[in-house]
Amino acid sequence: MQTSDHSSHSSSAQINDQSEAQIQPSFDRQNPPDPKLIDACVHCGFCLATCPSYRVIGKETDSPRGRIYLMDALNEGKIPLSPATVEHFDSCLGCLACVTTCPSGVEYDQLIAATRPQVNRNHPRSIGEKLLRQLIFKTFPYPDRLRLLLAPLNLYQKSGLQKLVRKTGLLNKLLPQQLAAMEAVLPPIPSGAFSDRLPELVPAQGTQRDRVGLLLGCVQRVFLPQVNEATVRVLAANGFEVAMPRDQGCCAALSHHQGEEEQAKELAKQTIDTFEAAKVNYVLINASGCGHTLKEYGNLLKDDPEYADRAAVFASKVRDVQEFLDEVGLVTELSPLQPEPLTAVYQDACHMLHGQKISVQPRRLIKQIPQIQLREPIDAALCCGSAGVYNILQPEVAAELGQQKVDNLVNTGASLIVSANVGCTLQIRQHLQLKGIDLPVMHPMELLDLAIAGTKLTSNING
Ligand code: SF4
Ligand code: SF4
Repeated sequence: MQTSDHSSHSSSAQINDQSEAQIQPSFDRQNPPDPKLIDACVHCGFCLATCPSYRVIGKETDSPRGRIYLMDALNEGKIPLSPATVEHFDSCLGCLACVTTCPSGVEYDQLIAATRPQVNRNHPRSIGEKLLRQLIFKTFPYPDRLRLLLAPLNLYQKSGLQKLVRKTGLLNKLLPQQLAAMEAVLPPIPSGAFSDRLPELVPAQGTQRDRVGLLLGCVQRVFLPQVNEATVRVLAANGFEVAMPRDQGCCAALSHHQGEEEQAKELAKQTIDTFEAAKVNYVLINASGCGHTLKEYGNLLKDDPEYADRAAVFASKVRDVQEFLDEVGLVTELSPLQPEPLTAVYQDACHMLHGQKISVQPRRLIKQIPQIQLREPIDAALCCGSAGVYNILQPEVAAELGQQKVDNLVNTGASLIVSANVGCTLQIRQHLQLKGIDLPVMHPMELLDLAIAGTKLTSNING
């Protein structure tokens, strides 16, 4: 009797366990994708054509709509968070083109931002993936650590070894494709890479209009320091005192976009502390991926009792430098960059266009330079494949997008490409080089800087 009771009790407990197991979400309880945001998707499919991963891979599961279905199924425990499912989230570039396209206002940006940390917490990555991610997240956001790698990399480039290795395709044969991709995107190391040449404070020229802070970025500070230098000269010439606190670090964009939530929060808090102490009225940034994350600090730190309000105040002061200069107006005279008309094509960075809805401001600024004629490429709103570290983590899809982007930019017939994002600039330069096309890629601040100084363009401006 006892045995029978026990067995009947245990079989009903098993049934209960099973039904509980069936409704057990495959995500943990820490901020899973919000079912209300998921339910806003009416599955119309308008977003598919504008999604770069869907365009390249061609599968529903690699589209915004497909990923939303997966999030829903994971929330309801209908599918496990298996490697096959994770692959479809990893293939998302986070470009936010779907947010722009969606007629129902689905906040896919919030959905994928909630999904990535879930993946990082609950999906065991392979040892190779873990090591690569450690290398990226323990190096890229820290300019001092990045600089430790510069001496050997400089030797590798200057000795001619890089040329030989690239010519023979040796790295593609010897290294995992992600490491080979990291090498492939490595630009020539500029002389200003080894230390920060900018002072902590640059005074305004003429009557001071305001005091602004400038975030120097981590990858940009090392690999494109000339962009920061040009930005400071443009701001100072236009009446702005520019503070660049020495202890500023990474804005957290790399970690934030890849769901490395704890690291992103720590970096964000450090940035807030630094710029609060600098007492600036605006925090400016000239790299669009960083700008988008800085404006998201309010969301990122909304549950932090010490930082939630401060993060919201900080975010309200953030401006992309093009957005800012368009808003306040240039007071400097601009000279033509060459005697004859100059055709240029502006590359919309995704986190500028889709993430911050900034598209006309940079164009308006560039067009103020005499003799510049702006051309528009087809598929201007499609990602170039850089997407933070996507071109390292997902090199095949990134390469396909990089090639398409370069073809579309080159097909405009423009003699200059203008890009306001370090990631896009490096990706476009890499694919121009692979195609053997010699076309300069410059930041709008570099163009304005030359136009203010009355300097003409030279043929070696990428160097
Ligand atoms: S995300 Fe928007 S555009 Fe895409 S299927 Fe859903 S409702 Fe349609
Ligand atoms: S963020 Fe970009 S890659 Fe990801 S689903 Fe949206 S459009 Fe596709």
